[in-house]
Amino acid sequence: MTTDRSARTTETPQDQPAEVSNWDIVNHYFDIATERLELREDIAAVMRSSYREVQVQVPVSLSDGKIHVFSGFRVQHNGARGPYKGGIRFHPEVDLDEVRALAMLMTWKTAVVGIPYGGAKGGVNVNPRELEQSELQAVARSFMDKIEKVLGPTRDIPAPDVGTNAQTMAWLMDEYGKLHGHTPAIVTGKPIALEGSQGREAATGRGVVYVLEEIADELDMSFDDMTFAIQGFGNVGSWAARILHDKGAKLVAVDTVDGSIRSDAGIDPHRLDEFLFSEEGDITDFPDSESTSKAEFLATDCDVFIPAALGGMIHEHNADLLNCRVLLEGANSPTTPKADSILSDKGVYIAPDVLCNAGGVIVSYFEWVQNLQHFLWDEAEVNGRLEKIIKRGFREVAQKCEDEDIPPRIAAYELGIERVVEASRTRGYIA
Ligand code: GLU
Repeated sequence: MTTDRSARTTETPQDQPAEVSNWDIVNHYFDIATERLELREDIAAVMRSSYREVQVQVPVSLSDGKIHVFSGFRVQHNGARGPYKGGIRFHPEVDLDEVRALAMLMTWKTAVVGIPYGGAKGGVNVNPRELEQSELQAVARSFMDKIEKVLGPTRDIPAPDVGTNAQTMAWLMDEYGKLHGHTPAIVTGKPIALEGSQGREAATGRGVVYVLEEIADELDMSFDDMTFAIQGFGNVGSWAARILHDKGAKLVAVDTVDGSIRSDAGIDPHRLDEFLFSEEGDITDFPDSESTSKAEFLATDCDVFIPAALGGMIHEHNADLLNCRVLLEGANSPTTPKADSILSDKGVYIAPDVLCNAGGVIVSYFEWVQNLQHFLWDEAEVNGRLEKIIKRGFREVAQKCEDEDIPPRIAAYELGIERVVEASRTRGYIA
């Protein structure tokens, strides 16, 4: 059993998964956006489909003495705006449909925040909670051996995602280096010791908080009397919680795959992080908090609810429970279309994934730029540039919402799609 954070928080922290797939979710929003844009059907078909979808076998000898064959995937969705970019997920339920959907989401994400990348995603259907570190290393190396031909620092650059972390990236980089020579820019989200970037580990959570600063301005909310709840306490959730707490907001409920807790007096996320990951405590034993059911967790009265777990967690059967003013999508595709309309009808402000969690890929971009130049920035520079880029993305989306009276998600998709269409036209791919 592994104890690192990403491996411990990979599973659905709720017993009721959505009945629609990630692919159905992203296509629903894509269809609304392309209809509004009056995009020609043949062009929409090009925009929807993947450039390349690779499925490979990942055979690994495990400590039981047997060879286990996992399935690995890399989907390159669209490369019109730059090299394919996106994370690699280790999760037992990963399949081609999910990876394809998440790759498409990366295309709109990089476009909406204006960084020069296309969109991709990868995954292996392995459960990191069940493997030793040495076995996970073998999975990562075996997967890299199978997909290296379609990767490259100017072709496709992986990064961490659910169930993977800086250590996984170090193994991937090392394996690629055996074949191609030392190439730090082949993956981002690496450890600092291997030319990883300052600020990358916290970047997605920090970006979520920068987006919330803009929303708070718009809705006239202040961090000092703000309460928030977090679903998932992995990389995104724990960093968003720590940064928000340090800015004065109060964490009142946390949900993980191992249980949920609540405290009206507030939960210290720094202490919770230590308790879960250094002391290997059980979340339900966290001091000065009470253990709650999933339904009670979802119904927590709070200003801001942050889904930071898997896709489809907020769906038609539980959206009505939510009792918040703002939904900040730290996870990718956490909200099904039906849940989206239930929450919108209740007047909840929804900050969409493609904008809200773009901090990770933005700082990946900085890491890649630093690697290409072998030049290292300090954390203040990284955070300052991240703030500038993600807030610019927010303001462009907000402006479109105001001009066209549409929700932020549709505005973000439209902006993203328009930019990819323009790049494709200029390249001469479409007329
Ligand atoms: N996995 C992250 C995401 O979904 C980061 C991707 C990257 O840095 O390339 O945005």
